[in-house]
Amino acid sequence: MRRVFLIITLLFLVTGCSSIKPKVYSKIDNTNKEYLSVHYPITNNKVFDDKVSNYVENKYKTYKKNFPSSTENEFNVDFKYKLIDDRYDSLLLKIFYTAPTMAHPVVDGEAFNYDRKEKKFLTLGDIIPKDKFSYLTSQIKQELLKKHSDCIFKEELDLLLGSSFEKYSFFTFDNEKLYIYFHPYDVAAGYCGILEVAIDLKSLSPLITFDSFEESVLEPVISKNSRVIDPTKPVIAFTFDDGPSNYTIEIANVLKNYNGSGTFFVVGNKVNFYKNDLRTLVENGNEIGNHSFNHQWMSRMSAKEFKDQIDKTQEKVKEATGVLPTRIRPTYGSMNDLIRKNTNLTVSMWNVDPKDWKYKDAKTIAKRILSKASDGKVVLLHDTHYRSLEALKIVLPELAKSGYQFVTLSELDEIELIRKNSSKAS
Ligand code: ZN
Repeated sequence: MRRVFLIITLLFLVTGCSSIKPKVYSKIDNTNKEYLSVHYPITNNKVFDDKVSNYVENKYKTYKKNFPSSTENEFNVDFKYKLIDDRYDSLLLKIFYTAPTMAHPVVDGEAFNYDRKEKKFLTLGDIIPKDKFSYLTSQIKQELLKKHSDCIFKEELDLLLGSSFEKYSFFTFDNEKLYIYFHPYDVAAGYCGILEVAIDLKSLSPLITFDSFEESVLEPVISKNSRVIDPTKPVIAFTFDDGPSNYTIEIANVLKNYNGSGTFFVVGNKVNFYKNDLRTLVENGNEIGNHSFNHQWMSRMSAKEFKDQIDKTQEKVKEATGVLPTRIRPTYGSMNDLIRKNTNLTVSMWNVDPKDWKYKDAKTIAKRILSKASDGKVVLLHDTHYRSLEALKIVLPELAKSGYQFVTLSELDEIELIRKNSSKAS
């Protein structure tokens, strides 16, 4: 750990702060009597990162204090983040938690905006001139009524929108837009959650100017994999949930050593941090599936929330690789009619679960896989655990010795079809 810190410090000294690429903190865990999924960016700027992690920690403490552990509890942190011109960090954090004793889930959030050059957090007054405030308020009002008229407190709206800049600390921005947010009950009924309105930044004569850059559109990836799978020999599909992570590529490389590929069910809010890794996956013939945007418990969502989670992840994967996933895997393995009825994607489960989230030792995981492995099986692993990578290194040579081919879920379907047709023909 100290070595890692030293390397990071050296990098910092050599390159200056701004060029270290932001990373993503990711924790998905349901071993501790609750369903926990926490994601937020790490910018390598201590002031900013501490503020963010302290905010999340405090929210978690409040939740833990108010709701005793229960296997039905869920705590989720999602985010929207942009680093603009290598100078401005703009982050929206969204907290969601629920427990069986609660009538409604708690939805909360905060925004953090930071200027790396001036080394300070930004207020709205740093971005928009004061004389634009009444115009901004009128735009916000118009947008709220247009987008959220079903739940806005219409009569009190003028009063609630107020007349001072301090009112609006909950905002983010990018080179084009200013996004103003409202907590539940600020200006609307609580069930509408956090409201967002987007205002064209140019119309507000911003005090900061941006380098005009356009985000490059990536060329779609073409798979270079042209391997042939022999349907007369055994096949097995390894699938990986909760990534991408720092181990994803290494896992894919282990499979590649045996001329194999796998299926990776990714969490959408992490995709931007691993664009190149996802492209390498596709290039090497691996399949990418959809595992929600923020790993909230899918089967408990409303249909609208569910579709939104799926669509946002489809979009991110398409942006990064040019390929649209054709499969989803429900979070926490929990299936219901909501999922079945509200997606055209193939819902893909598994039939070998070595429980790599529970067993912390690669040998145990490997043993559990090998004891259940047989032709046509689908194995569930998580590419967020180093031990799962180590387990694969034990398992693959063993299975390869017995003639196994390591295939994606789509290849498995194809093989099954070929076998069915050839058995009909014979
Ligand atoms: Zn998962």
